Amino acid sequence: MKSEEVLKEVAQQTSVCTRCKLHFSRRNAVPGAGNPHSEIMFIGEGPGFHENQQGLPFVGAAGQFLDELLAEASLKREDVFITNVVKCRPPGNRDPQPEELEACKPYLERQIAAINPDVIVTLGRFSMGHFIRNGKISSIHGHSFWSNGRMIIPMYHPAAALHQPSLRSVVVTDFKELPRMLKEAKETRKNNPELVSLSDVDSLEDSTEDHGTEQLSLF
Ligand code: URA
Repeated sequence: MKSEEVLKEVAQQTSVCTRCKLHFSRRNAVPGAGNPHSEIMFIGEGPGFHENQQGLPFVGAAGQFLDELLAEASLKREDVFITNVVKCRPPGNRDPQPEELEACKPYLERQIAAINPDVIVTLGRFSMGHFIRNGKISSIHGHSFWSNGRMIIPMYHPAAALHQPSLRSVVVTDFKELPRMLKEAKETRKNNPELVSLSDVDSLEDSTEDHGTEQLSLF
């Protein structure tokens, strides 16, 4: 199945999904948006008010800041793919709960497998937690890790930087490093084909069964 088709199917499935209780207050699912062949994927936490209204990721204040951050990395929104760990809005913007994260996991896994990015940037702790167990964002932000043959870069959530102005320059500095890190990831994957085969997960198949995510593995 082509990447576009997988993403379309995931979008359709999330729009009618009842795997967790977040569907009760859903106006629109927010499956994600962007380039189906992006080399870099951004994964946030979950839709907020505006995202739930519009069905698009990061369209509120945090999204505006994300656009600025992308520009720091010489990237445009349409070049990259942006999604969230949960595709429906947690009421009142509360944290997603473990069973909600678990229920939404197969959708994220299928998106990652379809897009096959070299780099995944996690925005915030829930997204980081999908790949890295017990990571402490204050120590590891902007550092690279390898998981399932892809470079994972944990970053602060743009909303955190909006609430805590001292984080702003930290996030900007981390984003400025992205072009260099992407180049490094591409070269590493090119020179180590076994890494790419690691990322050939079977999650292109439709599945409502969860795939365990390989936790942090440095190579
Ligand atoms: N915050 C997120 O984590 N995701 C969005 O889509 C919007 C705000």
